[in-house]
Amino acid sequence: MTRMSRHHAVFFFEEYIPCNHHLPYLEIHNFADGIVALRPRLPSAWNEDAREESLRDLLQAFLKMRNAAPPVLWFYTPMMLPLARDLPAAAVVYDCMDELSAFRFASPKLPLLEAELMQRADVMFTGGHAIYDNKRRQHDNIHALPSAVDVSHFHSARHPGAEPDDQRGIGYPRLGFCGVVDERMDRELLHAIAEMRPEWQFIILGPVAKIDLRDLPRAPNLHYLGAKSYADLPLYFSGWNAGLMPFAMNEATRFLSPTKTPEYLAAGLPVVSTPIPDVVRQYSGIAAVTIAEGAQQFIDGCERALGLPGTDPDWQASVDTFLATLSWDRTAKRMLVLLEEAIERNQAAKQASAPRRAAFRHIAAIRPKIQPAVFDYLVVGAGFAGSVLAERLAAGSGKTVLLIDRRPHLGGNAHDHFDAAGVLVHKYGPHIFHTNSQEIVDYLSRFTQWRAYQHRVLARVDDLLLPIPINRTTLNSLYGSYLQDDAATAAFLRDRAEPIAEVMNSRDAVVSQVGTELYRTFFEGYTRKQWGLDPSQLDKSVTSRVPTRLNTDDRYFLDAHQMMPAAGYTRMFENMVDHRNIHVELGVAYEDVVNDVAAERIIYTGPIDSFFEHRFGRLPYRSLRFDHQTLFQRRFQPVAVVNYPSLEIPYTRVTEYKHLTGQVHPHTSITYEYASDIGEPYYPVPRPENQALYRQYAALADRLPDVTFVGRLGTYRYYNMDQVVGQALATYRRIEANPRAMAMMSNGQSAGPG
Ligand code: FAD
Ligand code: UDP
Repeated sequence: MTRMSRHHAVFFFEEYIPCNHHLPYLEIHNFADGIVALRPRLPSAWNEDAREESLRDLLQAFLKMRNAAPPVLWFYTPMMLPLARDLPAAAVVYDCMDELSAFRFASPKLPLLEAELMQRADVMFTGGHAIYDNKRRQHDNIHALPSAVDVSHFHSARHPGAEPDDQRGIGYPRLGFCGVVDERMDRELLHAIAEMRPEWQFIILGPVAKIDLRDLPRAPNLHYLGAKSYADLPLYFSGWNAGLMPFAMNEATRFLSPTKTPEYLAAGLPVVSTPIPDVVRQYSGIAAVTIAEGAQQFIDGCERALGLPGTDPDWQASVDTFLATLSWDRTAKRMLVLLEEAIERNQAAKQASAPRRAAFRHIAAIRPKIQPAVFDYLVVGAGFAGSVLAERLAAGSGKTVLLIDRRPHLGGNAHDHFDAAGVLVHKYGPHIFHTNSQEIVDYLSRFTQWRAYQHRVLARVDDLLLPIPINRTTLNSLYGSYLQDDAATAAFLRDRAEPIAEVMNSRDAVVSQVGTELYRTFFEGYTRKQWGLDPSQLDKSVTSRVPTRLNTDDRYFLDAHQMMPAAGYTRMFENMVDHRNIHVELGVAYEDVVNDVAAERIIYTGPIDSFFEHRFGRLPYRSLRFDHQTLFQRRFQPVAVVNYPSLEIPYTRVTEYKHLTGQVHPHTSITYEYASDIGEPYYPVPRPENQALYRQYAALADRLPDVTFVGRLGTYRYYNMDQVVGQALATYRRIEANPRAMAMMSNGQSAGPG
C-alpha cells in the first residue's frame, strides 16, 4: 500500500494486551511512511463487555485527537466490528483470509458478526480461491487475491548464509515447516513421517497456538525452534532441503491458501503438501510441488523433493517463471483501485442521487417544444421498434419525427431506472441483450457502451437449484447420476425421450427430447403459469427457445454477443433519440393526438388490433404483474434469475438485477413475476388461431399505405429485443429504398430480423 501511505496515515489497531494498570491506555507506535500501530492495554481483570466498550472508546478518542477525516476501515476479522461499527468511514474493507468460524475456539458470535460486516463492507477481498468460492454469492463486490510473495526477500535463502545458532547443530537432510502450529497441523502425520525416517531431520518454526505443548508429537528428529521474525526466515530456509505443509484435511483447512507455498519456492525449496484445495488448484502443475496424502505418500513425496536437484537440474527455472506472475505490488495496486472506486462510490451516494436522476429525466422536459407541429413521421411507441425507426429516419434521412409513448418514459418494455434505494432495476422484468448479428451490435454501439454479461438461470426444484436449460449438470444433480460426456448424456435422454411422429406443439417439443418426467419437472408448470395454457396448446416455438444441452454449458443463451448496456437501457434510448429532428412526447397516447398531429406517415408499434379498434376481436396477449422489492442485503440469490416451475408457487421467476448490471450497492432489488391475462400486453401468444386472427389485421394494415406496423405488438411476434431492432432496421431500409411502397410491407411479413 505504498501509494496509500503517501496520502494517508495508516493506523493498525492491534489486539489488546492486558496490563496491570487500573485505567486503559493506548500505546502509539509510529513507523515510517505515516504508519501508526495502536496497541491497546486494558486492565486484565475486565470482562469482555468492558473490554469491548473501552476499545471502542480508545479508538474513537484517538481519531478525534488526530482530527482525522473518516478513515478506511479495513477488517481482517469480523470480531473487530463492534469496536468500529459506529465510526463514520470513507469505505469499509473486509479482507477475509480464511473461514475463521471453522477454527478451534472460534467465538460463537463470529457468524453473525461476519454477516453484519459483509453487509457493511464496500469491498471484500479473499486470501484464496476456495474461500472466494465459499463467499462469492454473499457479496456484490468480492475479489479473490491469493497470496503473493516478496521474491527478493526469500531469494537470499538460495545462497548459504550464517546459520542461526539454534539450527546449526541439526543434521541433514532437513525438511522444514514454518507457520502457526495449531489444530490445522496433521500431528499424527508429522509423527508418523518422523518415525518412518529417523535419519531425516524435521524443523518446525512458528508459535504453538490453541494446542497443549504436551500434545505435540515428539521424536529425536523433530525440532521445534519456536517463532522467528519474518526478517530471519530466509536464514533458516537457506539451511533446509525441502519445505513441508503437513496440514490436516479438515474443516479448518478447507479454505486455507498458505502463503508459505510461494515463500518456500522463492527460497529454492521443493514443496510437499497434503491436498489442500487451494494448493492443488494453484500449484499442482509445478514440478517442484508434490501433493501427497497419508504417511507413505508423504514420505514418497519427500524422497522426490530431496532428489529433485538430481533428477531435474532445471527445476528452479520453471519455479521462477511461475513466481514472476506473483507480486504483492500487483496485489496492492488492484486493492487500491477497488478501494478508490469504493470511496468514490460512497462519496457519490452521499451527494444524494440528484445527478443520477438528472441523467434519466424525460427528454421532453429538456428540449423546447417544436412549433409548428407538422412532422414527416409520427412514431407511436418509444420502445426498440419506435426509437430505432425515429433515429434512422431523423439521422439517416433528415426526416422530422414526432415520437410519442403513452408511458411516461423511454425504452418500452426494456425501460430501466434507479429505484428509491438507488438500485438500477428493469421496470418490466429482466432484459438481457443477446444476438448473433454483428450488424445489430454495431448499430446499438453508437448509443451505448457495453458490460460483458453471460446470463445464467437456475430452476428451483424442491430443495435444489438446478441449471436451466437442462444440461448434463442438471441431470447429474437431479438424478445423482455421473454422466461423464455428451454421448452418455445423449444415451440417458434417449432412454427417456418419447418419439413423436410430428412435433406439433410446445409439449411435443420437450417430451420428444427428454420425456415426460423432465417435461413435468421443468416445463409443464412453468408454462401453464406463464401462458395460462397447457404447453400442448402453444406453438412448438415457445418451449423450443429453451433447448436441452448434452454438455455442461449452463448459459441461458448461446449467442455470439451477450451483454448489457453499460449505463442501462434508458440511457441508450436517450442517446438514440437525442437528435434535433426528433421531438419526444411522453405520457401521450396515439388516440389522444391522432386528430391534432399533422404527420405524413405513421410508424405504429403498439398492439395492431387496438389500432383497428379490435374490429375482428381482441388478439390475446399475456400480461405480467411485477412485485418489486428492495432488501437490506447485498445478495439475495446466486444468479440473476431463478425460475419456479412448480405450480404450487404462484410466481414464475425472481430476478435480482445487480447480477445483470454489476452494480455495487449495500441493498439489492428483486422482482417477483406473476403472469396474468389482465393488464398491459407483454407477450403475443403463439398459437395457430391467434396467428390467423393476426393475419386478418395484417391484411387491413396492407391497405393503409401511410401506416407501417413494426415491433413485437405491431406485428404480433414473440420477438426478442435484437429481433425487433433487426426488424426496424430492415423496415427503414425498405422505406429508404422505396418510400411509396410502404403498404407492401406494412404488415411486417417481409420485414424479418436483419
Ligand atoms: P415495446 O417495448 O412493447 O414498446 C412499445 C411501446 O409502445 C410501449 O412503450 C407502449 O407504451 C407504446 N404504445 C403502445 N400503444 C400505444 C399507443 N396507443 N399510444 C402511445 N404509445 C403506445 N427480449 C430480449 O431480447 N431479452 C430479454 O431478456 C427479454 N426479456 C423480456 C422480459 C419480459 C418480461 C418481457 C415482457 C419482454 C422481454 N423481452 C426480452 C422482449 C423485449 O421486451 C421486446 O422484444 C422489445 O422490448 C419489444 O420492443 P417493441 O418496441 O416492439 O415493443
Ligand atoms: N420455460 C419453461 N421452464 C423454464 C423456462 C422456460 O417451461 O424454466 C418455457 C416457458 O413456456 C417459457 C418458454 O419456455 O415461456 C420460453 O422461455 P424464455 O425464457 O425464452 O421466455 P422469455 O421470458 O424470455 O420470454
